[in-house]
Amino acid sequence: MAPLMALEQVSAGYGPFRAIFDVSFGLREGTALALLGANGAGKTTVARVCSKLVEPTSGRLYFDGHDITEMAAHDVRRLGLAHAPEGRSVFATLTVEENLELEFRQSLGRSGVEDGLLRAYEMFPKLGERRKQTAGTLSGGEQRMLALARVMVDGPRLLIADELSLGLAPLIVNEVYETLARIKDEGTSLLIIEQHIGHALDLADDVVVLVRGGTTYVGPAFSPDQMSEHLMPSG
Ligand code: ATP
Repeated sequence: MAPLMALEQVSAGYGPFRAIFDVSFGLREGTALALLGANGAGKTTVARVCSKLVEPTSGRLYFDGHDITEMAAHDVRRLGLAHAPEGRSVFATLTVEENLELEFRQSLGRSGVEDGLLRAYEMFPKLGERRKQTAGTLSGGEQRMLALARVMVDGPRLLIADELSLGLAPLIVNEVYETLARIKDEGTSLLIIEQHIGHALDLADDVVVLVRGGTTYVGPAFSPDQMSEHLMPSG
């Protein structure tokens, strides 16, 4: 079966700087793929290229049978590829509901906002309880849930989650990963970016390891011990 998302020899960077080189992998529908690597290895760049926020300088990208190499980010989004970016990515001075309304007006249109809110509160009941609270006063974990709720509303085929656990206390990280597991069970495929590999490997079916912009491992997920040799720079 053709993968839901595939990268073929993709390179990309910022100006003259090449951040990733000849990256190739496929993500199977219904599975989770963890993209692992040290700080600066190129994980976020791979994520941005997948959702077309950064243009590849060479190689090709496919999503759900479409060649998306030349496609604009909003068209890729419409095909069902959602990206929860690194960081908190919520408007701190707006309430939970206002944050969601802003997003849903764009993604669902004015008439879809009400239904969107209902679905978001069903998926993330805590956000429903806190809907009148400003996003800046939410806990770190709740802010990540809000960022997820913003992109999950139209049932994407693939969710790219970039370091959702960054800076969170261990118990909250567990909650974030429970949510990701639920999202996967409900049929959305996952591309998870993590520096802390334990949780990611529990959820992931497959793994891609990046070292200095290149892949050192593409294959099934193993235990953190078995994976760690691939995370070491080869010198
Ligand atoms: P982190 O875990 O720190 O986010 P990462 O593996 O996601 O790291 P990237 O963010 O993809 O790595 O960065 C890869 C390389 O590209 C790094 O050397 C980084 O400094 C550089 N880089 C990232 N974003 C930009 C940008 N907007 N402009 C210039 N260089 C960038």
